[in-house]
Amino acid sequence: MTPNDQVSITEESYLPAGLPIPVPEADGLSAPFWNGLRENRVMVQHCKECGTFQHGPEWICHHCHAFDPPFDQVAPRARIFSWERAWHPVHACLNGHGPYVVVVVELMGAPGVRMLGNLLGDPMADVVIGAEVEGVFEHHPQAAPPFTLLQWRYTKSK
Ligand SMILES: [Zn+2]
Repeated sequence: MTPNDQVSITEESYLPAGLPIPVPEADGLSAPFWNGLRENRVMVQHCKECGTFQHGPEWICHHCHAFDPPFDQVAPRARIFSWERAWHPVHACLNGHGPYVVVVVELMGAPGVRMLGNLLGDPMADVVIGAEVEGVFEHHPQAAPPFTLLQWRYTKSK
């Protein structure tokens, strides 16, 4: 199985429109990550000197200090590391929207790499630390500039 098999895609937004649009920093360091999401791929840095995965992107490997760690594609599979059910609007466009669930997940194919996202589905459902989740590429093609978020949902039982 390649990392790109069986990806889930949606143009439905979990959160209301009006939140700030994520864009790569001006130095381009995180561009491979954001551009990868637009192509339904999860790209994280994978040091070719020592094999360490890291995210967010940095100019050096935090383990061995090698410069310019390259990006590798990893499968959008993870386990819930931490979570929060948010009730209070942290932005005007979230007024009256809550609750919603924010998760920190750890990628199964990139040990130690954790990412933030929303847990799709019923915001009042139980959230289980360690449960398997799969990435959902939430595309916003009409935004200026267009962008994609990586969201998460429980892996369907086999
Ligand atoms: Zn390294």
